[in-house]
Amino acid sequence: MSDAAEVRQFWQDLGLPGLIDIHTHFMPERVLAKVWAYFDEVGPLTGRTWPIAYREEEQQRIDRLREFGVQAFTSMLYPHKPGMAAWLNSWAADFAARTPDCLHTATFFPEDGAEKYVGAALEQGARVFKAHLQVGAYDPADPLLDGVWGRLADSGVPVVTHCGSGPAPGKHTGPGPIGAVLARHPRLRLVVAHMGMPEYEEFLDLVERYPAARLDTTMAFTGFSEEIAPFPEDELPRLAALRDRILLGTDFPNIPYPYIEALRGLAGLGLGEEWLRAVCYGNAAELFTLDQR
Ligand SMILES: [Zn+2]
Repeated sequence: MSDAAEVRQFWQDLGLPGLIDIHTHFMPERVLAKVWAYFDEVGPLTGRTWPIAYREEEQQRIDRLREFGVQAFTSMLYPHKPGMAAWLNSWAADFAARTPDCLHTATFFPEDGAEKYVGAALEQGARVFKAHLQVGAYDPADPLLDGVWGRLADSGVPVVTHCGSGPAPGKHTGPGPIGAVLARHPRLRLVVAHMGMPEYEEFLDLVERYPAARLDTTMAFTGFSEEIAPFPEDELPRLAALRDRILLGTDFPNIPYPYIEALRGLAGLGLGEEWLRAVCYGNAAELFTLDQR
């Protein structure tokens, strides 16, 4: 079976209209080229090679998601330095305008003017934000971001945040720094990317403490990640209990294995079809108020 046929079979067997993938990367070409160059050299960081499975032209990558039956996806992008976020946001607004199945995505960096351009993105209809604490190497509790988190909490627009210490720790990764943000903005719809890998337990604690917080499954439970950071089996009952706050994410196209692996990893948890339906479609459809298509 082809890649796409296997993916379609997966959601058809569950009786779903398709998938919603809240963690996919689309970004300006030269930024994506840098990200790919990083993964080409990531071996020393993780001790593993990271061959990108879908290193293709932008249109091909969009077509692939459509062939997979992904009904809605995102264009996660993130700055690694000041002065970059507003430009990324204008690219992402344009991308969403020409890609109707992409949820309009935006980002930010701790810098003067951040609250202003985040406000502008919200007014333009941004549906989801992305923050990357390892690449950005900033403290999420930086006072320059307090207004940003406040705006996001007030608007109810989710922010997918790479705050765990995988595949490599950063100065401000781990549950502590982002926990300080949640303590100050408890209604923030924080989506902990990668299930908080490798600090799974600590991030489950955090998400259990804050009812608006969520987790995305990006790269978790796959053979690739299980080798580096295995999910503790004892914690499976907590995943079952958090069913309505776990969202499918994949990191497409920057993954070192076929897309179906992400879905097989979820199915392999043995948490049942109801759980898979919620995680792969229902929870995101509700969070983003997407029509049943
Ligand atoms: Zn990602």
